[in-house]
Amino acid sequence: MEVVRITPRGYCHGVVEAIRIAKRVGAERGRDEPVTMLGYLVHNEHVTRELEQSGVALIAESDRMKGLDQVREGTVIFTAHGISPAVVAAARERGLNVVDATCSDVTRTHDLVRELVGRGVHVIYIGKRGHPEPAGVLGIAPEHTTLVETIEEAAELEVPEGTRLGVTCQTTLSMWDTQAIIDRLVQRFPHIEVHNEICLATQERQEAAVLAAKDVDCVVVVGSRRSSNSQRLVQVVQEKGEKPAHLVDTADDIDPAWFRGMRRIGVTSGASTPTQLTRQVIAAIEALPDS
Ligand code: SF4
Repeated sequence: MEVVRITPRGYCHGVVEAIRIAKRVGAERGRDEPVTMLGYLVHNEHVTRELEQSGVALIAESDRMKGLDQVREGTVIFTAHGISPAVVAAARERGLNVVDATCSDVTRTHDLVRELVGRGVHVIYIGKRGHPEPAGVLGIAPEHTTLVETIEEAAELEVPEGTRLGVTCQTTLSMWDTQAIIDRLVQRFPHIEVHNEICLATQERQEAAVLAAKDVDCVVVVGSRRSSNSQRLVQVVQEKGEKPAHLVDTADDIDPAWFRGMRRIGVTSGASTPTQLTRQVIAAIEALPDS
C-alpha cells in the first residue's frame, strides 16, 4: 500500500511549548512539591509517562474547576487550551502556585474578548460545548458572551434590539463550518464585528488534508477521539475532500477492510499527536498487502 504523508501534520507550536513548559516546571519543582497539569494536553500514554518521569502528574478532567478540586498543594499547570479566570482565582485562593501554558493563539482570543466586551460589544463565540477551550473563553465575561455551536443555533439566536455584536471562534474548528456560521450571522446582523480566530496550525493542516484528499483513495488521521482538531481533520476530508477518512489513536485501530480496492492512502495527524505514533501508523499501512 502506498502512503502519502500529508504535511504539515502533527504537533503545533502551542503543544510543543506547553510540553516544554510542563517538563521544565516538573524538573525544577517536582522533587520538592507536587506538580499537576490540569487536564490532558496530549492524549497519549507515551507523553503522559514522559511527563510523569519529569515529575508532572496529570488530571484527566475536562471540567477544569472539578479537576482543580483534586489538587491539594504544590504547582498547577494550565494546558494550551486556556483557562477561565474563575479557575485561576480558585487555584490562587487555595495557595497553589500557578503556571499558565496557554497557547499564544488562545491568549489572543482571550484578549480579543476582553477588548470587545470592554467596548460594550456582546460576543457570539462559535465553539463546541464541553470542550476546555470554549470554557476558558466564556469564563472571561459569561454574561457578555453567548456560545453558538451550529448554523441552526446561529439562525435562531435572539438578541435584544440595538445590541452591539461581535463574533469570534474556537481555534480548532472546521474552517468551512465556521465560515458558514459567520456568514449566517452576518446575514442576520449586518453590523456584527467578525474576528475569525481559527489558528494558522489548524488552517494549514485542514487545507493540506483537503488538497491531498484529491490524490488519494482514503485518508487516515492519527489522533485522539478527544482531540477537537483531529476530529475536524476527519470531517473536512469527508466533506470538502469528498474521500473516506478514519480516525485512529494508534496503529492497532487500523482495519485493513477500510482499504479494500485502494492503492494510495493519505496520512495526517492532529496537533497533539506524537510523531512516533504517526510513524507507526504509516509503517503499519505500508506493510499491508495490495488488495
Ligand atoms: S491547535 Fe492552534 S490554538 Fe491550539 S495549541 Fe495548537 S497552535 Fe495553539
